[in-house]
Parts: sequence; structure tokens; C-alpha cells
Amino acid sequence: MNTKSVTVIGLGPMGQAMADAYLDGGYEVTVWNRTAARADRLVARGARRAPTVEAALTANDLVVLSLTDYDAMYAILEQAPSAALAGRTVANLTSDTPEKARQAAAWLAERGAVQITGGVQVPPPGIGKPGATTYYSGPEDAIEAHRPALEVLTEIDHLGEDPGLAALFYQIGMDMFWTGILSYVHAQAVAEANGISAERFLPNAVKTMDFRYFLEFYAPRIAAGNHEGDVDRLAMGVASMEHVLHTVEASGVDGSLPAAVLDVFRRGVAAGHGQDSLTSLIKVLKR
Ligand code: NDP
Repeated sequence: MNTKSVTVIGLGPMGQAMADAYLDGGYEVTVWNRTAARADRLVARGARRAPTVEAALTANDLVVLSLTDYDAMYAILEQAPSAALAGRTVANLTSDTPEKARQAAAWLAERGAVQITGGVQVPPPGIGKPGATTYYSGPEDAIEAHRPALEVLTEIDHLGEDPGLAALFYQIGMDMFWTGILSYVHAQAVAEANGISAERFLPNAVKTMDFRYFLEFYAPRIAAGNHEGDVDRLAMGVASMEHVLHTVEASGVDGSLPAAVLDVFRRGVAAGHGQDSLTSLIKVLKR
């Protein structure tokens, strides 16, 4: 089998970018997608269209999956006999929960395949570009055996053997990303309601969204269990969020997002953390 040879299953925007990166890198690429027409452009570039899932699996040792979720993986892989999976390494670059990733690794192991779980950290245009990273977890030997092929897509950040770990890091990253980016969208709505354009607000928004200083300040204190209110106090956070909510509502903008933050702050104060740092909320949030 050609060592520069890979199967890509799932040709959404991400799978397309991955197949393109392999073609650019001189790989023999076998593709399969539920909606077969999505493979046409890649086939025109030299990819091989597998007629069946079984053919896609048996074409290569390394099978890259890029699907909406793990349910899609079962819907696809169950179309092939189990024997088609035996001996394969499945780089599952589909995002889902840690539990689903662990279950899938066990399901594949029962069929003689090894799963490498991946959580891609860039949008499709970042695939194959310097600086792009993917969280990986799973057996080190499987990752090392396929390192050159995986590195065609992105750099490898191997977090450990637990197949759920890459999914966990991906999801906690998305927890920050969605709430963080929504805070920007919300603030821009308030800005616009007050006649401030996105271009005008941009430099201020960029400065405010740079949390590096705060993360590096708080992380060692959190690790040491230090939630002292010497720099910030939750009671001050409540007063601040009340001003934010008032400003938002006075601007005619939906206040549900700041109201949710205020609610968490108030619960922290009610739990006795008014004079502690906002990091004490970790204790309140962990059920
Ligand atoms: P899409 O949801 O657009 O693509 C999904 C692929 O899954 C398509 O090939 C689709 O087939 C297939 N699929 C979905 N459901 C089924 C099913 N029931 N049976 C068979 N095939 C199915 O996702 P993306 O390409 O955008 O992303 C792929 C993965 O990468 C996702 O897990 C995503 O979270 C992750 N990711 C995406 C990023 C992005 O910016 N796009 C960034 C980082 C990670 P069909 O074409 O037939 O519909």
C-alpha cells in the first residue's frame, strides 16, 4: 500500500479542505460521501471515488472521518461489513462529546480498528496552513505511525491516551469560544443601537477580548485554591453587571445574556462569596 495514501469520509467544508490538502501533498486520496456529488470536484482533481463504504475503508490503512457528529459515523460505518474495519486506523476528526468519542473508540476496537480522536482547531481554510493545530487523543503508537499524514492537515497536539480527552478539550474550548464570541455580538448590538459602527468599535473590542493577562493571573491562583478578593470582588461584579444590564436595556437591546451573567454572580454572593474573587464561582458552578 502506498504510504502516501489516505481515505477521507465526509466531504462537508472541512472534509473537502482535508482532501484538498492531501491532494496538494501528493497523496492518493480515496473519498466517500453520503451525497456522492460532493466528491465531484475532488475526483476532477484526481481523488478516487469509492463506490461503497466498504471500498473506502479497505482502500487504506488510514481513514479520516469528518462528519457532523458520531451518529453520522455509525450511519456510515454500519453500511460496511465489520471485517472492512479490521486493521484500520480511524482518525475521527468529527466533533462530539467525550462520552461519544469513548464509546466510538470501544465500538471500533470491537471491530479491530483503532480510533484516534481529533478536535480540529481551525476552520476549513486553515487546514494545511502553518500554525493550525488539532487536539488528538488515543494510542501514541497509532498517532506516531500516521504522524506524517496527520501533519498534512495540521500540527498535532497529543493530549493523552484517553479517547475522550481530545473531545473534552475541544468542547471546553467551544464553551469559551461561543460564550466569548456571543459577548462580542451582543456588545456590537448595543454599540449599533447607540450609532457606533462595527469598524468604530473594532479596536476597543479587540483590546477588551484579549484575556491573556487575566488568564495568566488567575490560573495559578485557581490551581492553588486561592480565590481571595484582593484584586476583584464578586460583590463589585454584581454592581458592575447591574450597570451593564441597565445600559443594555436602556439601549433597547435584549438583556438575557447579561442577565444570565448577573444571575450567576448573584448566586455566588448568596453562597457567601461576595468578598471573594469571581474565580470563587468555580465552586458555585461545579455541581
Ligand atoms: P458538515 O456538517 O458540513 O459536514 C458533515 C459531513 O457529514 C457531510 O459529509 C455530511 O454528508 C455528513 N453527514 C452528516 N450526517 C450524516 C449522516 N446521517 N449520514 C451520512 N453522512 C452524514 O461539517 P463540516 O464539514 O463543517 O465539519 C466536519 C466536522 O469538523 C464537524 O464535526 C465539525 O464540528 C468539525 N469542525 C468544523 C469546523 C468548521 O469550521 N467547519 C472547525 C472545526 C471543527 P452529506 O454531504 O451527505 O450531507
